Amino acid sequence: MEDTGKVFLVGAGPGDPGLMTARALELIATADAVLYDRLIPGAALDGARADAILEYAGKGPSGDSVKQGGIEARMVELAESGKSVVRLKGGDPFVFGRGGEEAATLAERGIPFEIVPGVTAGVAAAAYAGIPVTHRDHAAAVAFITGHEDPTKPETAIDWPALALFPGTLVFYMGVKNLPRISEQLIEAGRRADEPAAVIHQGTTTDQQTVVGRLVDIPELAVEADIQPPALTVIGDVVSERERIAWFEQRPLFGRQIAVTRARAQASKFAAQLRELGANVVQAPAISSRHRSDEAVAAAVEEVETFEFIAFTSANGVEAFFEALERAGKDARALFGATVAVVGGATKDALAAHGIVADHVPQRQTAEGLLDALAGVDVTGKRFLLPLASDPRPVLADGLRDRGAEVHQVAVYDTVVEGLSPEQVAAVADSEFVTFASGSAVHSLMQAIGGPEALRGCALVSIGPTTSDALRAHGLEPTAEAAQSDIDGLLTALLKLA
Ligand code: SAH
Repeated sequence: MEDTGKVFLVGAGPGDPGLMTARALELIATADAVLYDRLIPGAALDGARADAILEYAGKGPSGDSVKQGGIEARMVELAESGKSVVRLKGGDPFVFGRGGEEAATLAERGIPFEIVPGVTAGVAAAAYAGIPVTHRDHAAAVAFITGHEDPTKPETAIDWPALALFPGTLVFYMGVKNLPRISEQLIEAGRRADEPAAVIHQGTTTDQQTVVGRLVDIPELAVEADIQPPALTVIGDVVSERERIAWFEQRPLFGRQIAVTRARAQASKFAAQLRELGANVVQAPAISSRHRSDEAVAAAVEEVETFEFIAFTSANGVEAFFEALERAGKDARALFGATVAVVGGATKDALAAHGIVADHVPQRQTAEGLLDALAGVDVTGKRFLLPLASDPRPVLADGLRDRGAEVHQVAVYDTVVEGLSPEQVAAVADSEFVTFASGSAVHSLMQAIGGPEALRGCALVSIGPTTSDALRAHGLEPTAEAAQSDIDGLLTALLKLA
């Protein structure tokens, strides 16, 4: 028989991927198998091994014991076949997570296991709503209670009179449906009808929604706001602190759906900035770039020392060019004699990462702007190398040739249209804002979503004049255009609209 594996009962936190523990991420990254629940953060499994077994093992809100038995049997089976198994649960595995039962089964079967606590929703959703569950002025204790039981049933395991007397904050999990009866029962047993109360839906995520009221009217307010599970209810004077310290929902882009159409490789930083501001980011990388390694690239790199000027019009071009240099056994020293011009800040930064400080950076971050920046430079008879995308706009090469330069263009990368899933297309169309950081991103998105119609309801934010023209070419007018043609400018334009 194979050696028995090990099971890790792991809490994935309340929803914000940033609230997963270091231990949880480490175990997910190394596990042979992950059995995961419904309420885990969207990105929780991103770090799993490509060859890991990933199985959904969740139960609906009314999860039955047969299925619980099935989950435990599967966990045991995987562990007994020698696998390391992560059993991943929302929040904390021992707080209304049935982790206690699963651990007991493992102990009985002699299967080694570990418990990895997680950030529980009762604390975290409250905190993200600006409610501290304990407070020197208001609450010296907090109780976590299941709201799953109908309190009017005779077999209720909850001692309502005792809860009514409990000297502190009450946090009910799973209680959306039963909220009217919970409220009634508590008031009947002597709890103050006007005690502050809050219901928090999808706490810690960009879909977080908070309703605040009094114990007596919170059920009605929750229905009016159409609060659905998962949600929890906090009852206590601590709720009044929210007025002063709510923070998460106050961020400038909170809950706004924003589509990012850049290539995935470049989108992550921008997406992270948007998320930081509270946005619900839809990644729709309709475009990606592929670096070329053909003969034309090799030939250009071979004679790179013979060029007096090199101009880059994108960070992509910089990366593809330096990759080609490296393939030829060369490095940044090959540029030692050349004057280097870039189209803008991001390109300048990409170059700086390779140890080259650009000599010319235009005010206006377009090919036209770059020509202006070189206006005072005598380029007659000078050899220019332009490492560009295949099929570039001719503006730069033509402008330089008109001034007497000898221009050598080389395509160092291709922009490739990527298909989007029907879900991605729907999410883009559903976005309040769609951002475009290049003309090619516009054209690719149009191909991927089948034309401009899908974007009629969206505000379109363009990084600059070239991108705006690309939108107009498809009959779309940009809602806003960045004053400064880079990602910071795009963000500024977006924030002005929001
Ligand atoms: N083990 C989990 C709780 C599982 S029970 C934990 O420790 O958090 C499921 C209940 O948790 C839901 O019905 C809801 O009441 C609550 N819950 C889970 N995630 C939540 C979230 N992001 N916001 C609000 N409530 C949440």
